[in-house]
Amino acid sequence: MKTIDLRSDTVTLPSPAMREAINTAELGDDVFGEDPTVNRLEEMAAERMGKEAALLVVSGTMGNLVCILTHCRRGEEVILGDMSHTFLYEAGGMSALGGVHPHTLANQPDGTMLLEEIEAAVRADNVHFPRTRLICLENTHNRCAGSPLTVEYTDAVVALAKKHNLLLHLDGARIFNAALALGVDVKQLTQSADSVTFCLSKGLAAPVGSLLCGSKKFIAEARRTRKVLGGGMRQAGIIAAAGITALEEMIDRLEEDHRNAKRLAQGIAGVEALSIDVGSVRTDIVYFEVASERITAEQLTSELAKKGVKILHIGPNRLRAVTHYGITADDIDIALKAIQDVANRA
Ligand SMILES: *Cc1c(COP(=O)(O)O)cnc(C)c1O
Repeated sequence: MKTIDLRSDTVTLPSPAMREAINTAELGDDVFGEDPTVNRLEEMAAERMGKEAALLVVSGTMGNLVCILTHCRRGEEVILGDMSHTFLYEAGGMSALGGVHPHTLANQPDGTMLLEEIEAAVRADNVHFPRTRLICLENTHNRCAGSPLTVEYTDAVVALAKKHNLLLHLDGARIFNAALALGVDVKQLTQSADSVTFCLSKGLAAPVGSLLCGSKKFIAEARRTRKVLGGGMRQAGIIAAAGITALEEMIDRLEEDHRNAKRLAQGIAGVEALSIDVGSVRTDIVYFEVASERITAEQLTSELAKKGVKILHIGPNRLRAVTHYGITADDIDIALKAIQDVANRA
């Protein structure tokens, strides 16, 4: 029985071309700046994001942390969404390691924060208050239906940041999914931000790595912050080689993941014991709910696992499935059949 693993786009295995690239990568000591493969990946990443420079880090979590610690001093404040990955799932790194204070605002169902609420959250110059330094956005928004934030919204938040002398960091873990869903060049979503991180190891299927991108001056400082966190790597071209292949060969195929996510959502909409907002599914992430008293989300996932279909339950009634490299339309149909069987028995 083949396992169809829809828990996350991070379960992807490297493509044959990545394994080949890893095997033949030209290497050097990157802490001396001498790994030609890392240097090439960083140049490519900066170019794609419309930035001067980029830095390879091991994960999206490290990328966001390096950016926040580079932008903010102790006691300064970051405005970010209450459903953001950085607030929920990064172990409180900004506070634990940087003494940086998170100021959360409600994320709307489409992953935005209201402009008027952002503006109201900016602190006045008063000895009682922390100093607001940074606003963080997330695109696509993982917990908010994988929604893409538009160019117009991003630019409006940047304008607000500029007006108040603040910086803007973009957690673009799945920024290529956002660009594809919106039909824009990825640069349009990133060029106005002061820093952006994106992941190679999600939909792009590389085994390890994220990049943070910004001005030359910012990246020089970020390189120091990465070193402080123990993130200086030596022959990191082993990782970067797969990342270069990811940027060259894996972006256009994300369209297939979006089509498969829609197909899954439409199938789920036909199952009586389940409920889903099909229109909210814009990228590779599908959230849905159990709408029957007779089964919980956890029971559904464990029954599905017995049939070789893995999804995540993320609340008593809430479930998540993510499409990715290695999942075909046929796999989606098999998964749907299993979901129907389990849910209809409930
Ligand atoms: C996965 C993810 C991250 C963190 O990436 P890791 O590589 O898992 O540390 C950050 N932000 C968002 C929106 C993510 O989905």
